[in-house]
Amino acid sequence: MTTSKPDAATVVPASGDLPTRAADRIDPDAVLDLASRLVRLRTVHDRPDSPVEQPAADLLAEVMASYGWDVTVTDMASGRPNVVAVIGGSAAGRTLMFEGHTDVVTEGDSAAWSFDPYAGDIVDGFLRGRGAADMKGGLAAMIHAARAVEQAGFAGRLIVAALADEEGMMAGAKAFAASDLARSGVDGVIVCEPEAGEICTVAKGALRIAIDYIGVMAHGAMPRMGRNPIPALGPLLVGLAELERQLQHSVGPHPELGEFYVTPTIVAAGGTEQLNVIPAVATLRLDVRTVPATPHAPLLLLLERLAREIADEAGLGCRFDVIDDRAPVETPKDAAVVLALAAAHREIVGAEPVFGGVPGTTDGTILNRDAGLQTVVYGPGGKWIAHQADEMCDAADIATAARVYAEAAERFFAGRW
Ligand SMILES: [Zn+2]
Repeated sequence: MTTSKPDAATVVPASGDLPTRAADRIDPDAVLDLASRLVRLRTVHDRPDSPVEQPAADLLAEVMASYGWDVTVTDMASGRPNVVAVIGGSAAGRTLMFEGHTDVVTEGDSAAWSFDPYAGDIVDGFLRGRGAADMKGGLAAMIHAARAVEQAGFAGRLIVAALADEEGMMAGAKAFAASDLARSGVDGVIVCEPEAGEICTVAKGALRIAIDYIGVMAHGAMPRMGRNPIPALGPLLVGLAELERQLQHSVGPHPELGEFYVTPTIVAAGGTEQLNVIPAVATLRLDVRTVPATPHAPLLLLLERLAREIADEAGLGCRFDVIDDRAPVETPKDAAVVLALAAAHREIVGAEPVFGGVPGTTDGTILNRDAGLQTVVYGPGGKWIAHQADEMCDAADIATAARVYAEAAERFFAGRW
């Protein structure tokens, strides 16, 4: 079942008296209609120079403009726009931002799906298709929440940001974080990623590291004429595993984020057709996932020292490059945006909120790192369904999230939590 209602966010009671609470202005069918329309748009970055987020950005910009919002569309690259709306309240006050991303990961092998990956339909109460959870459901919910808050009236400023390239290098979040708007006094950000309704104030950090061991190329029959960089990867891998174990032991698992990890993801040396050639370079790539107790600067020193010591012992050169550095995010649980969200969850869901952690990184990581914004991640959809085949999201959870977002915003603006 899908609906074809217009994007009206309000339910006007027959009696004529408008609901006073923004959350009660949310029309679940309208939220789900927008989510369905977004899921049907394939916003995957899998071909160079082809549009990615463009169709979703066009749809959202159109919806936002139809509300009379001040909308800015900025291209990160051709076909890859950020869409940002600013909504002023009736008086000055705090600024709250809702954030989501419009790209999705590939559907992969569609034969692995039991339905069309871009169905965007609702079956047995679940919105189905790539992005249903991560995170077109969340996008639809935040936009309708903002509309409901605007219609109910508020003092302050709302920013609604639908950004590009979260699944890639987060170019959209990086550009937003560098913008004047990010530095114009944003007091809190709700990142609407799927976290199964948990309030996530912490997110793991990530380091992507490239280590190249450099030897001397030679004929396989005459190894003494060269210097083979491959064997040194053995002790390096063992040493990294030992360093991971020691650090895991010394810092212990984080209550919400779990363990710190050093994971080798790429090993490359030589060519498959060149069995008789000792290669000059052996390459290792690491995906390191950190917790607040493993700050990046001393950790990088440990990793680099280990890599260089083993290279020195083997008489090899060593290149150690940090490809990406995203520190863990830790927003205090007593930050206004967190308190307002927790109070809203209690009010709308009728249960104590569960506080959790984000195992990966989100745009919130970049907004926190580059612009110092206080971010909290909360949204509809399971944490683990993202990026899998048969992605779906409980439709009722999407509508509930919209209500929680609206309530959180009202409480945030009113200082009521
Ligand atoms: Zn996501």
